[in-house]
Amino acid sequence: MTCKDAAELIEAIAAGDLEPSDEIRTHFETCPSCAGALAMARRLELALVADRPPATPEKFVPAVLQRVRRERWRMEQNVDRLFNVAIVLAFIIVAVGALALMNLSGVLAAAAGASSALSELSGQIAHQMQPALNTYVAAAGLLLTALGMWWWAERRTSF
Ligand SMILES: [Zn+2]
Repeated sequence: MTCKDAAELIEAIAAGDLEPSDEIRTHFETCPSCAGALAMARRLELALVADRPPATPEKFVPAVLQRVRRERWRMEQNVDRLFNVAIVLAFIIVAVGALALMNLSGVLAAAAGASSALSELSGQIAHQMQPALNTYVAAAGLLLTALGMWWWAERRTSF
């Protein structure tokens, strides 16, 4: 074992990668120059280890990704649910409006059949049309809201 051989092993020994054999150990114990070099390498190694940033815990990144995925999924579900509720509401309002319109035709037919006074008929039409019109305005507004939500949800989930 020469000093040249020992010098090539110093780094590995200081880093703990190499368990020195008896022959190597004897050389470091008897050769002051190599012992000094090894001590220096060990101090350097310690400084490097102390300076090293803490390793990211192994499960940290997958855990964060899973959390993000779960939150995103939950948000999409909420949007889906709101969207479905809005659509159902819109259909109910449209159905109610259609029923109101059918009732109105029935009333008109009955009124015509009974040959009521024209003023009374027009008065009835105006009276019956008002809530139906309100229903249509509300249904249109709700449909627009639902379409807007759908557009928003599509944009949210497609990037
Ligand atoms: Zn030596």
